[in-house]
Amino acid sequence: MREALLRRIEGMRDDVVALTVDLVRVPTVNPPGDAYTACAELVGERLRRRGYAVEYVRAEGVRGDSARYPRTNVVGRLAGAASGPCVHFNSHIDVVEAGSGWTMDPFAGVVKDGRVYGRGTCDMKGGLAASMIAIEAIIEEGIRFPGALEISGTVDEESGGYGGVGYLATKGYFSRPRVDHVIIPEPLNVDRVCIGHRGVWWGEVETLGRIAHGSMPFLGDSAISHMVAFLHKVETELLPRLRERTTAQPVEPKEARRSTLNINGIHGGQPEGDGYPAPTVAHSCRTMLDRRFLVEEPIEEVKAEIVALLDELKRTRRGFEYVIRDVMEFLPTFTPLDAPVVKAVADEIRRVLGREPAFIASPGTYDQKHIARIGHLHDCIAYGPGILDLAHQPDEYVVIDDMVAAAQVMALAALQLLGATGRD
Ligand SMILES: [Zn+2]
Repeated sequence: MREALLRRIEGMRDDVVALTVDLVRVPTVNPPGDAYTACAELVGERLRRRGYAVEYVRAEGVRGDSARYPRTNVVGRLAGAASGPCVHFNSHIDVVEAGSGWTMDPFAGVVKDGRVYGRGTCDMKGGLAASMIAIEAIIEEGIRFPGALEISGTVDEESGGYGGVGYLATKGYFSRPRVDHVIIPEPLNVDRVCIGHRGVWWGEVETLGRIAHGSMPFLGDSAISHMVAFLHKVETELLPRLRERTTAQPVEPKEARRSTLNINGIHGGQPEGDGYPAPTVAHSCRTMLDRRFLVEEPIEEVKAEIVALLDELKRTRRGFEYVIRDVMEFLPTFTPLDAPVVKAVADEIRRVLGREPAFIASPGTYDQKHIARIGHLHDCIAYGPGILDLAHQPDEYVVIDDMVAAAQVMALAALQLLGATGRD
């Protein structure tokens, strides 16, 4: 059964390429969430033709959902020959904007030099295609399996996943007894198993001042100057401390085994609009802090050390006033190394690729957080054919050999998890 299935998937090389190209040609750019329904239907109709029960689930009322930009998710379930567990492959169908620097059309799906190029090939339509082909091969081989296989195409991962996996999780799609094992084909490299991710906290800090004419700044109190003082403290006091903290989790790249903080944005003074801001002393300045923290750091302390810097300025700096707001937070999530899905995928990487798998964790979060937090399902990993470093880059691509190999690993790991034994 194994050898026949491996050969069958190898023989479906052109199918996985064609499917990836078709998916890339639907420009599901998020924001704003273009063409979600078209992409969900492309996936759903193919699943339906293969015998899946297909549902379209719109995340109505979730941020971003509208008549023009409906948050349309698709879930397909292929029932096996008897009752048993369920293995679910979840892929997000949204992609980030193309951006600049491309040497080709980012939405044409150019096939060249053993690669498929285009926005979303690596992150993660190539992974979605590989998982769909893996199950098609199982069907075509006539392999009997108990339980069920599921495929979902979900939206908004790039903007937090609330309209996608987060929404489906609240409806029970990612909980027992419906689902037992989840594989997310995010681009983490074909020989690596990703067990989870660091935590994230977005906090907005606003400094306050007093407006006055820009020609007489001494009559006002600049919120921008107060922000400079705060960011100076961040740079000189907080960042050196964060760099000292390391995690025992196998986060890749290795630089991300330390605590990090990025300033995602800053704005002070009047909006620029089409021209220059008006000549006023800024009465408000806002910055968005993007703090990625380690499983060893309690989130209360992550927030408290920022507040401590602000409170110290309030005591020592004349006129310093601030407001701090929580914008988003997710705790670190890790699946244990001895969980069934980790062992099954690692085992098949060894057998299919002939290499020892690496166990890694992601520096940033992905939809696993919703599955753990809302679905309370902890047998979940990310495993897929894309190369991590290419995600969101110009001239993004996925290697065709890697899609074929990942499909082989996915098919065999799924059968192992279901306890499938042979043909009809
Ligand atoms: Zn992704």
